[in-house]
Amino acid sequence: MAKFDLGTILERAKKERHSLSRNELAYLISLKDPSELELLHSTAYEVKVRHSGKVVSFRGIIEMGNYCSKDCFYCGIRKSNRNTDRFELDEETIIRAIQRNIDMRYGSIVLQSGEIISEKNTEYIERLVRKAGEMSDGKLGITLSLGEQSLETYARWRAAGAHRYLLRVETSNRELYARLHPANHSFERRVQCLRWLRECDYQVGSGVMSGLPGQTDDDLAGDILFMHEMDIDMIGMGPYIPHHDTPLGRDVPLTPEYAEERLRLGLNMISATRLFLHDVNIASTTALQALADDGRERGILAGANVIMPNTTDTEYRRGYQLYENKPSLDENTEESRDNLVARIKSIGETINWDQQGTSPHYLVRHGKL
Ligand code: SF4
Repeated sequence: MAKFDLGTILERAKKERHSLSRNELAYLISLKDPSELELLHSTAYEVKVRHSGKVVSFRGIIEMGNYCSKDCFYCGIRKSNRNTDRFELDEETIIRAIQRNIDMRYGSIVLQSGEIISEKNTEYIERLVRKAGEMSDGKLGITLSLGEQSLETYARWRAAGAHRYLLRVETSNRELYARLHPANHSFERRVQCLRWLRECDYQVGSGVMSGLPGQTDDDLAGDILFMHEMDIDMIGMGPYIPHHDTPLGRDVPLTPEYAEERLRLGLNMISATRLFLHDVNIASTTALQALADDGRERGILAGANVIMPNTTDTEYRRGYQLYENKPSLDENTEESRDNLVARIKSIGETINWDQQGTSPHYLVRHGKL
């Protein structure tokens, strides 16, 4: 890799968004030296504070069920995994979880499940979205994370009151995508879905995994450029954590060295993305916490501004393990919140209570900022 001057690159990136080349992004992602990492993360944090303040927004995740029609090679709830106990929350339990989010003043929820394509499910989600809007007098931010659907389905859910949609591509490198998925999973279809979501005027979220087998720093730099090209509003990037019941993770031991390296990469991706895109929402994902107890706080200090606490009833959480070692499985929701709030305060940040925490990038696009 060509030699770069870190200070010069960071000064430019801090002042002007979209000012880094692909090679410069790959260089930032590759950094390992502790003093260089400190400079990278603190510069990205400055940009985060400029756009979102010293504030973290919460989105309470409700994992509604773990049935999925897809078979992604890295995912613990892929349909071929016979070792997962399948569950589906009933409507009453989901409504209780929505109410809990309102009571806890989280401001936004994420309704998440595997990919289910049926008219019955489309109607069910419409009903839940409407109900969540009514329960909060329209104040609650409603995010859906329900996989690839038709344009008509996305439009119906948007009309029912959903504001945001998360659909991660996991990697923008088509060859790598093909190695991570069965032949009937199409990258082009996924990109088409992202375009449809924009067409429906959702705040569109996407993201990738870092540290996948065979993935390079250049691939990850390409992922950041892809987010820019697709004009993404919200980004969720998690380090790849192997699940032993999957074809991809079967033989990968989660050693301390492995965890440290994946954490480094995950934090560098957050910083490089913040330095390139500036005003998007970036989540500090639970996968970071799976690698280090303070992983999510470090994600915030590296440039993220969103945390997505799990607000699913604890009895169901074991069923929703996309990767292993998923944290907070045994905590109840109030304990999780109190613990998280204390941790966020300890790094000098406050919480955006009762606010939807809309992506500044989306507001700018709509002339509202
Ligand atoms: S990654 Fe998503 S779409 Fe793929 S198997 Fe898991 S839940 Fe289903």
